[in-house]
Amino acid sequence: MKKETLAILGGGAAFDKPLPVGQLYFPSWDRYKSAMHGIFQRKYYTNQGPLVQELEHKLERFLGVKNVICVTNGTIGLMMASEAMMLSGKVILPSFTFIASAQALAWAGIDPVFCDIDPNTHQLDVDKLDALIDNDVTAIMGVNLWGGACDTVRLEKYAQARNLKLFFDSAQAFGSMVGETSVANFGSVSVFSFHATKVVSATEGGCLATNDDALAAKLRNIRSSYGAGAPVPVVKTSNGRMSEAQAAIALMSLEDFPQNQSKNEMLFNKYKKCLKDLPGIELIHPAGVTFSNYQYVVCEIDEKAFGMGRDTLLTILNADNIIARRYFYPGVHRSVGFESKYQQDANSLTVTEEVCESAIQFPIGALVDESAVDKICGIIALIQENSEYLNAFLGGG
Ligand SMILES: *Cc1c(COP(=O)(O)O)cnc(C)c1O
Repeated sequence: MKKETLAILGGGAAFDKPLPVGQLYFPSWDRYKSAMHGIFQRKYYTNQGPLVQELEHKLERFLGVKNVICVTNGTIGLMMASEAMMLSGKVILPSFTFIASAQALAWAGIDPVFCDIDPNTHQLDVDKLDALIDNDVTAIMGVNLWGGACDTVRLEKYAQARNLKLFFDSAQAFGSMVGETSVANFGSVSVFSFHATKVVSATEGGCLATNDDALAAKLRNIRSSYGAGAPVPVVKTSNGRMSEAQAAIALMSLEDFPQNQSKNEMLFNKYKKCLKDLPGIELIHPAGVTFSNYQYVVCEIDEKAFGMGRDTLLTILNADNIIARRYFYPGVHRSVGFESKYQQDANSLTVTEEVCESAIQFPIGALVDESAVDKICGIIALIQENSEYLNAFLGGG
């Protein structure tokens, strides 16, 4: 390939349509039609309908947990978990996560305290927790990132020894396993997202998974009177119900999870093979799990070795309709609402700061196939070979 084929240098875009990151699951039109037909026949849109009930039972079996509570989206789930666990004061979470992890705590009136991450895995660095603990800290929110997991086993021991509560944002780890068990089996509760970009989709949606029956009863009462089960006194409710239309998509998506996971794994390995000899680009493997949903292809760009910074690479790829993303940027600690607080904390998040500048996410999921990965990697190689020229052309570094 010649550099002139790059869209940024006047060639046509490599892909006709933008190729985004994210799973973007769509069932066949016929399956969709028949699922919606059922909803129309029953004339039942929401309020813990038969499809939501079926989905909850299937998820309990799939995740190997006693209770699953389906909700409108993952963020509502995190807010409900904070309320049900009666968290207060400060809660520690990693600074390298999606903003919703911290926003959910803010909605629950909790002060987030940001912990740095491991440079190799991007997961919460348990060794950095000690320095953040004070009398106001009541809990830890672990985040299971990139289809992998943080050190769930060590975190459980750590929290128990200090009498801290522990729960997980598992929005990115649906189906992933730690040892013999799903990530849902750690901490008091694990929260999943079924957003359209996630490996299992309800278009919008999420669920809470817990083996604690009393906590589950509380969560059901916080969600809504429908499907509340035995009444438990709660202070706040959320109306965080999942609709039948959401559940219909989620049921099909759950059924197709095995094929989607294995396709993702194949695509991930293809990226790995195609990128391994390129200097300055390092693929991050889903950490700490025996089985991953392989929903993310995240690399770090070493500007010196690659010959170009992450942001310049992104600009060039985007011109070719490869909608790679810097994710997460900026770190949550630098986002509106948290920045001023973070600066007071004087808590150094060196690794997070570095990774926010170097991480790039490439397309994987339903819209991507093997030939697309070949093409994307070929373009990345072409960019790398011509980095000096392109830097000069774009007037950047
Ligand atoms: C997607 C995601 C969420 C939010 O889930 P929604 O269903 O969109 O509310 C929270 N945390 C992480 C880490 C996520 O990736």
